[in-house]
Amino acid sequence: MNDKVAGDIRAQLGLRPVINVSGTMTSLGASIVVPEAVSAITRVLSEFVEMGDLHRRASTAIAELTGAEAGFVTASCSAAISLAVAAAITGDNLWAIEQLPDTGTLRNEVLIQTGHMVSYGAPVEQAIRIAGGKVVPIGQATSAHAYQLAGAITERTVAAVFVVSHHVVDYAQIPLKTFAEVCHARGVKVIVDAASEYDLRKFLADGADVVLYSGHKFLGGPTSGICAGDKDFVRNIYLQNRGIGRGMKVGKEGIAGVITALEAWKTRDHDGIRARERAALDLWVETLDARPGVIARIVPDPTDNPLDRLKVAIDPEAARITAWDLASAMARGDRPVIVRDHEAEHGHFFLDPCNLHPGEETVVAQRLVEELERAQRSNEMIFTPLAERWLAQEAAILNWPD
Ligand SMILES: *Cc1c(COP(=O)(O)O)cnc(C)c1O
Repeated sequence: MNDKVAGDIRAQLGLRPVINVSGTMTSLGASIVVPEAVSAITRVLSEFVEMGDLHRRASTAIAELTGAEAGFVTASCSAAISLAVAAAITGDNLWAIEQLPDTGTLRNEVLIQTGHMVSYGAPVEQAIRIAGGKVVPIGQATSAHAYQLAGAITERTVAAVFVVSHHVVDYAQIPLKTFAEVCHARGVKVIVDAASEYDLRKFLADGADVVLYSGHKFLGGPTSGICAGDKDFVRNIYLQNRGIGRGMKVGKEGIAGVITALEAWKTRDHDGIRARERAALDLWVETLDARPGVIARIVPDPTDNPLDRLKVAIDPEAARITAWDLASAMARGDRPVIVRDHEAEHGHFFLDPCNLHPGEETVVAQRLVEELERAQRSNEMIFTPLAERWLAQEAAILNWPD
């Protein structure tokens, strides 16, 4: 551990050595890039390559893993949404590609279920709009039906975006298979945002014309977005590099990194990783057992990724601290532990073991105990009104770089 800390780039840059128990969070640097990709990135950086050929090689690697005809690598999954929408609008019309986001007389309406109009750090519908797409919401926040989708398709409709994520409303939405059938019956392309999903084949099998992943989430690649789909569609995405895709491009290091991360994925020891994650979860369950006001339970991933998390529910009366104040307390100090707290107002947060370095699970356990014991000793219950917490977070962003 000491050797690691001594050589830690974060110390050199004056950054706090974060322990990430929140999952694959872009705001923390996404994921641990697999060693194979780190090596490929380092080796390619000082060389010249023919980018068209490198992209072709990536296409083959993506096709092999996903079963798609072709693939393309861009800057991020968010970029991939924009470029897929752009491709649906322009086809291979090079002139139209240069005109975006102006779409002239081209079809540009893009359907999306209202319950899928989420934020992954930025609004998904904005990713559609910057490509010139006009967002047409389907249904209401808490329900959408196939007849509403079919009814919204007009001669202006060009594509439909389907989001697979723990962020989306998880009931009463149109399932992908039905969604794709309705769209395909009327010549509408289906773009699936599966940024954070492990399954590289299911969404294409269920009817996606193109499926989009983040290269830097579970795949353990560098910051990137991966598109997989029909050859013509993917080519039209590639062509956007001559238009709005220019500012969303990924360099040689990103492409080489994605190719090697995909190859490493084929031989990754998924069972070994799960066993290690399970050991961390068990340690935390044991650590939290019988602590006043704390109920810890292992729960599966909401979108069926092969991954469990620890749900830590806090009764503030007994624990003398709220779930969100405990999350904030863990994040302070010189060994910050960042928990998964996007639902903290429900009185719980999650501990996600998927991005831990060996030994860090023990630090997480120690920090939990420290903060829970500190709360037990405090005279008053530690309780920050939620509105205050949100305003403080907003103020902090607006104050950057100070
Ligand atoms: C993370 C995420 C994105 C954005 O991915 P980036 O590659 O970071 O741009 C888009 N959609 C969903 C559902 C996500 O979880």
